[in-house]
Amino acid sequence: MREVFTSSYVDDFQIKVPSNTWERNARLLEDQTNMIVARAQGLGLSFSIAKTELMHWRKRREGGPRSDSAVKIQGHTVEPAGTLVRWLGYWLSDNGETTPHFNKRLSLAQAAFWRIQRLSMPGKGLSPYGARRLAKGILLPTLLYGAEVLVPSRTMMGKMQKFWNRVARWVTNAFYSTNVTVLSVEACLAPIDLHVEQMKTMTAIRLVTAAPENKVATAMLPITFPTKEDFRVVTNRRLAFDENMGGMRPKTWSSVATTTQQSRLPMDEVAATAVTVFPDLKIPVKPSRLAQVTPEDAESYVKAKEGVRKRIWKKWVDWDYPPYYEYRPIFRDCWNFMTLAKFQAGRIPQMRAHKSYLNAHTDWSNQDRDVTCGRCGTEPETLEHVVKCPALSSARWGYPPDDFDVAPASETWKRGKKGLARVKGLVSYVIGNRINFPVRGGFFPFTRNADLAS
Ligand SMILES: [Zn+2]
Repeated sequence: MREVFTSSYVDDFQIKVPSNTWERNARLLEDQTNMIVARAQGLGLSFSIAKTELMHWRKRREGGPRSDSAVKIQGHTVEPAGTLVRWLGYWLSDNGETTPHFNKRLSLAQAAFWRIQRLSMPGKGLSPYGARRLAKGILLPTLLYGAEVLVPSRTMMGKMQKFWNRVARWVTNAFYSTNVTVLSVEACLAPIDLHVEQMKTMTAIRLVTAAPENKVATAMLPITFPTKEDFRVVTNRRLAFDENMGGMRPKTWSSVATTTQQSRLPMDEVAATAVTVFPDLKIPVKPSRLAQVTPEDAESYVKAKEGVRKRIWKKWVDWDYPPYYEYRPIFRDCWNFMTLAKFQAGRIPQMRAHKSYLNAHTDWSNQDRDVTCGRCGTEPETLEHVVKCPALSSARWGYPPDDFDVAPASETWKRGKKGLARVKGLVSYVIGNRINFPVRGGFFPFTRNADLAS
C-alpha cells in the first residue's frame, strides 16, 4: 500500500510518501532520504540539507492542528515548512489551495507592469501595438504561470481580470469609465478566463499526446486513459481513491457527473480536459524528434490545437458586444491605428468607446453636462458628429472623404496600406482640430492621468 513517489527536475527533486499518520510519513521520509544520501555518498556526492523543505499535505477542508513532525537527515533536523512550499516556481499550499500561488503571480505581474508602464505613457513612448506585445509577451505569462494545471478560484480570476483591465487601459489610453467588454476589443486582449481556458486545454493536448516513455507527466495519467502506449510510472494516486475513508473521493477523469462537489486530481483534470478536444478518445501521438508518427496522428494533433484556438476566439467574438464591435480585426491581429504613436492612437478608442472628452461621451462624473457640440451647436458631440461637423467643414478640405468613414466595418479600421492611410488622415484631422482634447479653451496635449487612473 505504501508507495514512494520521487520526481526531479535538473537538480531539484521531491520525495512523496503516503501513510495514515504524519508521524509515520516523517519516518518513511527519513528512511528514503537516508537511502538516497547513502547512495550519493557512494558516488562522492552530497546534498545541501539547508535547502531541504518538508511539507505535510492535507485535504482541502481538513481541520485540526498541523503536524510538527520533523525529519532528521544526517543529524540535521528539517522542520515542516509551514503552509506553503515553493517547488519550481509553484507555490503549493499544504491543502491544495491555489490562491496563495496566484496571489504571488499577481504581485509579480503587477511589479513587472509597474516597471514597463513608463515605457508607454499616455502621451509618448511605445505605440499601443508595442504595449500590447509587452502585455502578451511579459505580463500574461508572468500572471498565468501555473494555470496550466492549477485552477484559480473565482475570486482570484476576478482579481486577475481587474489587473488585466488596467493593462488594457494602459495599452489603449481608454478612460477608467470605459466598459470593460468594449475595453477588451479596443485593446485586442481577450479576457483572462479565456486565456486560462486556452492554456489549460493546450497543456492537456500537449501532455496526452506525448509518449509516456518520454514524459513523466504523461506517464502519470490514469492507466484507463487511452494513450497509444500503456507505460505509466508508479504513483500513489490510487490511494486517493482506495484509502479515502470518510472523506470525499476525487472525481475520476471519465466521470460526467455535474452535480457533485467532488474535485479531480490534477492529472485526472488534464485527462478530462483532453476528452473535450478528442471526444472519440482517439488520442494521437504528437510529432517530435523522439516519436515517429503516422500522418493521421500528425494531422489530428495539429487540427486539435487549431480547433482550440478557433473555439476560444469564437467565444470571445461572440460575447455580448455593442453592435459597433461586430467587426473585429482578424484572429491574433489588432486594429491598424495601434501602430500609430500612443497619443495619436489613444484618441480613437476613447471616441469609439463613447468615453472621451467629447461632450456627448459623459460618465458618472459629468453626466449633467451639455452634450451639444461646442463648435456648431446643432447636434450632440459624438464621433459620428465630429467627422461631419459643419463648423469644421473647411478643416476637412484636402482630405479624401473616405478618411471620415467611421462606420464599424469601414476600411478605416483595417490593416493594410489603404486603411492605414485613411486612419492617419482621420487622426491628423482630429489632432489638428483639437477634437477630443481635455481642457476646453486651453491647450493640454496629453490625456490627464486622472482620466486613466485605476
Ligand atoms: Zn459640431
